[in-house]
This record gives sequence, C-alpha cells and structure tokens, in this order.
Amino acid sequence: IAGAVADEFKFGAYLVGGCVRDILRGEENLDIDIVIEGDAIAFAKKLGEEIGAKVTTHERFGTAQVIKKDFKLDIATARTEYYESPAALPKVEMSSIKKDLYRRDFTINTLAVKLNKKDFGLLIDFFGGQRDLKDKVIRVLHNLSFIEDPTRAFRAIRFSERFGFKLTRHTENLIRSAIRMNIFEKLSGTRLYDELMLTFDETNPVKALKRLGDYELLKVIHPKISFSPELESLLQSVHDTITWFELLFLNEKYDKGMLYIMALLYKLNKEEREVALNRLSVTSRLKNKILNGLNAAKNILRGLKPDNPIEIYHMLEGHDIEFILFSMALTNDSEKKKAISHFLVKLRGIRPELKGDDLKALGISPGPEYSRIFKKILDEKLINRLHTKDEEIEFVKKL
Ligand code: ATP
Repeated sequence: IAGAVADEFKFGAYLVGGCVRDILRGEENLDIDIVIEGDAIAFAKKLGEEIGAKVTTHERFGTAQVIKKDFKLDIATARTEYYESPAALPKVEMSSIKKDLYRRDFTINTLAVKLNKKDFGLLIDFFGGQRDLKDKVIRVLHNLSFIEDPTRAFRAIRFSERFGFKLTRHTENLIRSAIRMNIFEKLSGTRLYDELMLTFDETNPVKALKRLGDYELLKVIHPKISFSPELESLLQSVHDTITWFELLFLNEKYDKGMLYIMALLYKLNKEEREVALNRLSVTSRLKNKILNGLNAAKNILRGLKPDNPIEIYHMLEGHDIEFILFSMALTNDSEKKKAISHFLVKLRGIRPELKGDDLKALGISPGPEYSRIFKKILDEKLINRLHTKDEEIEFVKKL
C-alpha cells in the first residue's frame, strides 16, 4: 500500500534503517522507518487515510508517524544536506536516498528496500552494508563520522554488544582519535544522558558499559569514573536487582536509568557527583534525588535490622522505589537483601482494613488519635498478628 501511495505522488519510497538490518539478520524489529523522496507529510496523510490510521506530523522536520493499534511507521523526507568532506564525496551527483543514507552512522544501518511498484523489494546497498552484516562488523561511512556526531561512538558500542559484532580497526581508531581531540566535550549533556539510557536498556548493559569504560568513554561523564572490578560488580548487582524487580512487578513505573547512574557515581565524592550530574544536564529534581539517595543508602543499610519487619517497614516506607532498589543492589549482606525484597514483595502493600468510618462506628471521635491507632494496627499486621477486619476491630476495642 505504501508503494502504491508513493507512486500516486511520484515519490520514491524506501524502507530503511534498523528494520532492514534486522530483517537481514533474521530478527524481528517492529520500528519501521520509511524515507520518502518527496513530501513525507503529504505521503503520510494519504497513507493514513488509505489504511484508516492516525497520523501525527512534525512540519518543521518533515516527518510523520502513522499509527494503527500497536503498529507504528516513522516517515521522513529524504534529507539531502550532508557534511562536506571533499575527499569522501563521489564526483557524480547522488540521488536523494543515497544522500540520506550517507548521513547515517554505520554501513549496516544504510541498507534500504524499495517500496514503489517498479523495483518493489529491491535491496539497495550503496555502502557495503550486506558485506558488513555478513562479516559482523560495525563500520563508519567516513572519517569525520564521530566528529560530526560523537554519540555515534556510544551507538557503535551498543550495536557491537547487542549483535556480537566487532568495530573495524579503522572505526576503533577514529573513536580513539575523537577522544584525543576532546570531541566529546562538545557533546551536550542531554544527548549523552539519552545515549546512556539507551545503553542501560540493552539486554546486557554491564558488558556494554565495560566496553565504554575500555574506550574511556565513561570519563565523558566524569574523569574519575573508571570501570573497576568494584564498579562492575555493583553494576551487575543493579542489573540483577532490576531483572528481579521487573519480573515481579511488570507494570510498576520506575526510573531504571537512575539506578545505573547511582552505581556509576557511587565511588565519587559529593562534589564530583554534582559535577557529573551537571555534565549530564539532569533536572535539579533528579539531581537532588540522586544525590540524596546516594547519601542515604549507606546509612539506611547500616541501620537495617533484617529480622524486624516493623523496623524494615518504617525505614523503607516513603522512600523512592529507585532508592530502595539501589540499596538492595548495594548491600552484600544476603539477610539485608532478603529484608528489602520482603518489604517490596509483601510489607509495603500491607494496610489496615479499618477506615476512619469504622473507628467512628466504634465510638472513637476523629482526631490525631486515629493515626496512632492505624499505626498500631499496621504494626500488628506487619508481624502477622492481625489478619482479618474482625481481628482488627477486636484489637482496637482492647486498646
Ligand atoms: P534500534 O532502534 O534497534 O536500536 P535503529 O537502527 O533503528 O536500532 P535508531 O536509533 O532508531 O536505531 O535509528 C534509526 C536509524 O537512524 C539508524 O538505523 C541509523 O541509520 C539512523 N541514525 C540514528 N542515529 C544516528 C546518528 N547519531 N547518526 C547517524 N545516523 C543515525
């Protein structure tokens, strides 16, 4: 259908990017990117009409999204601007799609599939993407790639870890020389932060972070961060804690990235942590959350009595979930780990069944007394001495 719509407009239409790469690797990728040689927005609107899908457009960027149920198409106008690098520019005029693909990061991401009726399904490979997929390598398209966009160094390592591909020697050298040239100083905090978040989302983030450490790319966050065995084990522990938590609490929203950032900053002193968080341009709210969390984690762990549910509850209750998970990851004491998991799985969900109205019905007039009674009921429930509402009523009568 996309091909037919493009034909009507006489636009070239191509499937591009990660989706083509992953199809050729025999993997599924549901993020579908289409590049249009022409007006992507007009194309998207027409396509949306044809298939009864919702269309959102970003006029400024010449991009649109076509969304139908859980199916999503990203549509972009072929970008024709490219960075001047005379030695690398071919003499012949490039067609739009070729220019668009030349702006991309690695050869394996430059493959495209034609969608127009004529040549439908034709695989377009200007830069040796198929060869590199077969050879399992990550290769930049030209020497200025990392200078144009330093986030590509992080992307290279992410893809390399995800697919088990190697960076070509040349690509590796270009990252090293970009580091020597201090190119990463120019990378904005927001983009650096976003790249790190994507790294944390990988199946094996600890290995990817180790590789970033090997290339000294963690020093972009703060010069004092190095990938020591200690940091590795803390990151691994964060990863294990997160895996456990997500398995049990599928729908609970939390900020996974915050936990990894806390681990990366753990060994730094207070000033260094602040410098690092400023480098990442996090909001002052998140910055304070992380700084306070890092300060408090050790103290809480020191005071935690693993065999006393009432104390566990009152120590952890009210803290951010990220902080609680980080404390769980930080401690090597298996009893304390168990206590925190007990809090998350059971204790934090315990509430008195009685409500204010029930207390009123028992003849107690509303006032500060209520919260004291509720706390007493709660504590009894935490140590499993009260179960049913009737038992709670009996308990209150005896107070
Ligand atoms: P995945 O989403 O599975 O991580 P992807 O290849 O789809 O992989 P995206 O970040 O969604 O990754 O990017 C889509 C496409 O845009 C890439 O395939 C690549 O061609 C291009 N691209 C993304 N970021 C850059 C960049 N920093 N420099 C050049 N090209 C990029």
